[in-house]
Amino acid sequence: MTAFAPSLETIEHLVSRDRPVSAFIHDLDALDRHARGLVSALPPGAELFYAIKANSDPAILRTLAPIVAGFEVASAGEIRKAREAIGVGARIIMGGPARTATDFAAVIDHMVERVHIESIHLLHLANAVAESRNATLPILLRVNLSGPVPGATITMGGQPTQFGIDEAEIDEAVATLAVCPHLRFEGFHLHTVSNNLDAETHADFCLEALSRARRIADRHGLDLRVVNLGGGWGVDYARIDSLFDVDCLAGRLRDALEPGSPQIQFECGRIVAAYCAVYVSEVVDVKTNHGEAFALLRGGSHHFRLPSAWRHRHPFVVINRENWIWKWPRRGHTDCRVTVTGELCTPKDVLLEAEPLSALRIGDLVCFLLAGAYGWDISHHDFLSNAHPERIFLPARQVGADKEMNI
Ligand SMILES: *Cc1c(COP(=O)(O)O)cnc(C)c1O
Repeated sequence: MTAFAPSLETIEHLVSRDRPVSAFIHDLDALDRHARGLVSALPPGAELFYAIKANSDPAILRTLAPIVAGFEVASAGEIRKAREAIGVGARIIMGGPARTATDFAAVIDHMVERVHIESIHLLHLANAVAESRNATLPILLRVNLSGPVPGATITMGGQPTQFGIDEAEIDEAVATLAVCPHLRFEGFHLHTVSNNLDAETHADFCLEALSRARRIADRHGLDLRVVNLGGGWGVDYARIDSLFDVDCLAGRLRDALEPGSPQIQFECGRIVAAYCAVYVSEVVDVKTNHGEAFALLRGGSHHFRLPSAWRHRHPFVVINRENWIWKWPRRGHTDCRVTVTGELCTPKDVLLEAEPLSALRIGDLVCFLLAGAYGWDISHHDFLSNAHPERIFLPARQVGADKEMNI
């Protein structure tokens, strides 16, 4: 199985014993193996960067540093995180809309390799900052392709969004480059698709994007060195054993790339980090209200906002436990639909809705799988000021020891 799913013994061995369980547990060994698999599938001429917004913990960045080509960041804060975790050796590329002069100054100060520019105003601003520091900034133009874009399912382009420069405005953007001598055009950035589960349609998108990038460059006589096709390799939360078919995508790219083709870059977050972690939380109360069964966790959407943010059914396992320390009877639900909520004082704090469960009692654990990407990092941790979850990182060695003990 691709997804990390620790046993009760492993969980109890790792978490603090003096309080109800509430923890993210990461398996860095699994992350290492999984990321190596993704990278090794790619054809020569294609690079995989890690988009750190999915999970920017230093332990994750350090594990990935020897494996991925580098790190994609989307703020000055993320530049600092990557530099602090990895040092000056890390290759960093920066994207993101709504950039400011401070961001471009950070790009120069921290020796970011290339920055993706999303508007004509930002071309002028980046050029002005580079001029003031006597620097030249290598850039990609992020283009929002004119729709329809083949293969773009859940899109950030090919339709109205705040991202990128409208393909219809590319002529103006290229003309602007001519008055920005402190910028060096190196290619296009075409991140358009999010969580695409189908590698064939993703390949359709990539090949279409590549050919449009070539056409635009040819039309303007631009030297196209790099085409960044963004992230979006999908994670199927409904079928956790099925992996995005990287070999299929890589094969179709290999066929399309020829000597002299631009360097292809991907910057994936979700598929890299999702599988290596769980969010596990203890049931601290149960009740039936107006005929519906609820279980309340020590934690909730302020730790793990992904299920409510994506409004999807998140994969989980119930881990039943026997240790009941109180004098009164243990309450629970049996053979019914249970809504699993968190500890926040808002009805939005729902992690699972009306799940058919055979047994869930106070003291049992609910373990959310595939929790490594867009889990902790997108959540509103301090809303209501409950204690943060423990954040545990199993180094490769310790996981190995666990396996020998067969737990
Ligand atoms: C979020 C984002 C990514 C990463 O996307 P995943 O779906 O996590 O692979 C890459 N590039 C840009 C510009 C993004 O906004």
